[in-house]
Amino acid sequence: MKKLENILDMLDCGIVEIMFDGDARSITWANNGFFALTGASREEYDNELKHGNPKNVLHPDDFERVFSAFHKHVQTKETLSIEYRVMHKNGSYVWLSVVSNFIGYKNNKPCFINIMKDITELKKIRSKIEYEAERYRIICSLANDLLFEYDIENDTLISYSKNSYDFNTLRIDNFLSRPADHKMLPDDSIKVLRKFFLQEVVVARQYKKSEPFQIITKNGCQWFAVNCGIINNTIIGIFINIDKEMTTAIKLKKEIREDSMTGLLNKVAFIQDATEFLKHSSGKQGYHAMVIFDIDNFKQANDKLGHGFGDTVIQHVAMCIKETFRSEDLKGRFGGDEFVALIKDVNIPQIKQLIRRYQENLVEKNLSLKVNYSLTNSIGISLFPRDGKTFEQLFKSADIALYKAKEQGKNQASFFDSPV
Ligand code: GH3
Ligand code: MG
Repeated sequence: MKKLENILDMLDCGIVEIMFDGDARSITWANNGFFALTGASREEYDNELKHGNPKNVLHPDDFERVFSAFHKHVQTKETLSIEYRVMHKNGSYVWLSVVSNFIGYKNNKPCFINIMKDITELKKIRSKIEYEAERYRIICSLANDLLFEYDIENDTLISYSKNSYDFNTLRIDNFLSRPADHKMLPDDSIKVLRKFFLQEVVVARQYKKSEPFQIITKNGCQWFAVNCGIINNTIIGIFINIDKEMTTAIKLKKEIREDSMTGLLNKVAFIQDATEFLKHSSGKQGYHAMVIFDIDNFKQANDKLGHGFGDTVIQHVAMCIKETFRSEDLKGRFGGDEFVALIKDVNIPQIKQLIRRYQENLVEKNLSLKVNYSLTNSIGISLFPRDGKTFEQLFKSADIALYKAKEQGKNQASFFDSPV
């Protein structure tokens, strides 16, 4: 027993056996750690504190709570875990974390073992952390942009600020792995964020800015970029709303590439896209068709029916091109009454059928004009890679075919090597 007491004396916590007799209590045994908690020696404690009123030891704000908790504990004998303040010999208060367990009866009086730990420092740290967290929350709520933490390992995103483009929820689990659950990220955005969070930031481990991506917010789909840093496995960053800038940039980019009268690609954009596409098509099976459309006798239309009518004719032809070909085909106006299309992945019967459909559509458009003018086109077609492997070669071949169609009486289509 002596040996055990020696061991208990060496522990860095207070251990005390208490006997309860109604509201009175007496300490029947305690280790050195118990006395160290209040800075008193065994003798001092015996003399001054042991038989004193607990009110003299306990912090006045804690007394009612502690008293009723111990009262219940003595009744029920269920383990009690409680934190409270006691007075130190030097006059300050010490925060204790106490666990009390019933161990049996002595002289018919219930006895308990209390294990006590000084948590004063821990409490100070905890309150400092709470203060910092609150400070962070206030700063975040004042910020215009959306601050967040992303836990890489658990794929959890926690956002901190609420504002106009807020997310629907502040905590999102499976943020990148199960986007269908929160429906906040379109597919392209997931790709951007996965690459950015899981490859770039993790590897670079420093402050970085992402590519623009879209988020579905309460106010609809908007453009954002992320600015962030990383601590251990947590990315801390801001979702910056760049919707206005991006929308303007996209609109401008579109306008720069568009023929303003028809909405088709302009010459520069068409050549750029076609050149790029053909560059990546070498070695592929099948054909792509380059088609040039030129309005027949357009000069006459202008001269007889006015420039305004000429403009309407140009818009009808553009509409006809848009309606006949697929969205992935390139469609452009090269200026004046000349239009070009690059029809992707077609064989010769398919292109013949498409051109027939186009011509039928043009007849309908002509009828809808309801004037004494016959809207027809001459059409030149060349095939990649047979008639040219670059844009320039292919366009030249199609132009030669167009010339042939004009020569042979207009209102018809010609392939580079034969009539359709
Ligand atoms: P062809 O059958 O041989 O093609 O003869 P064409 O009369 O169509 O002759 P050409 O292609 O040389 O004429 C094109 C005319 O298109 C010349 C120009 O005044 C007119 N034009 C060019 N751009 C516009 C435009 O934006 N609007 C209008 N209304 N006319 C335009
Ligand atoms: Mg013409």
